[in-house]
Amino acid sequence: IEQTAYQNDSLAMLGKLSASIAHEIRNPLTAIRGFIQLLHPYLHQLGKEEYAKIILAEIDRANDIIHEFLSSSKPSVPQVGMIPVSALLKEVVLLTESEALMKGCQINLHPLQEDMVISGDVKQMKQVVLNMIRNAMEAVADREDDSMGKIEVGARREGSEVRMFISDNGKGMDIRTLDRLFNPFFTTKENGTGLGLSVSDRIIKNHGGCISVSSRVNEGTHFVISLPLIH
Ligand code: ADP
Ligand code: MG
Repeated sequence: IEQTAYQNDSLAMLGKLSASIAHEIRNPLTAIRGFIQLLHPYLHQLGKEEYAKIILAEIDRANDIIHEFLSSSKPSVPQVGMIPVSALLKEVVLLTESEALMKGCQINLHPLQEDMVISGDVKQMKQVVLNMIRNAMEAVADREDDSMGKIEVGARREGSEVRMFISDNGKGMDIRTLDRLFNPFFTTKENGTGLGLSVSDRIIKNHGGCISVSSRVNEGTHFVISLPLIH
């Protein structure tokens, strides 16, 4: 028992420490960003404008990583409540619909056959579904052919569990990617953080569930989130 307490303590300490380091890194990044913008006209005169672009893009990427890291290492005590699955999916789809339309893809939310309720932290749950829909939108944008990008979202009951699914007809994944997609910082995207799925996986495991995935290159990807149902 003592060792568990000790471990929890040092974990909490580590969490606090990393959060404050992350904050401290952000401030100089903001300063660098500002000065690079000031230098922009001079770089332009030198015909080296693209250097400024690269620097800004890389600073933004570092900021994204810190942002995702901070939001994943924040209070480890989840706000537990009852979450109706249909409301959860509806809200996240609503949140992403305009972004999807702009990218020329369609999100289709399947009406649920029955009311289902899970227990958990609603913010974290939204974050997971949002991560997956964002990934689907990005996968659809990266496709080879230019047929309509489609994302299907829905849920069904399976015994005492709910299976929420997010499917896309995007670029899919090869076996090497499938092997590593839950690893922290693993990304195949130029501007990716590689944190979305590792954080999502942890959140779902903390809620007593699991994530499974199947995918085919150039055909699409099917994510399933399984979670215990309250009723
Ligand atoms: P990021 O989106 O920042 O790259 P994620 O953890 O969200 O990080 O995803 C990790 C990797 O998994 C992505 O870079 C991508 O290669 C792959 N991936 C995730 N979702 C999909 C999807 N729906 N279709 C194709 N590849 C995906
Ligand atoms: Mg992602």
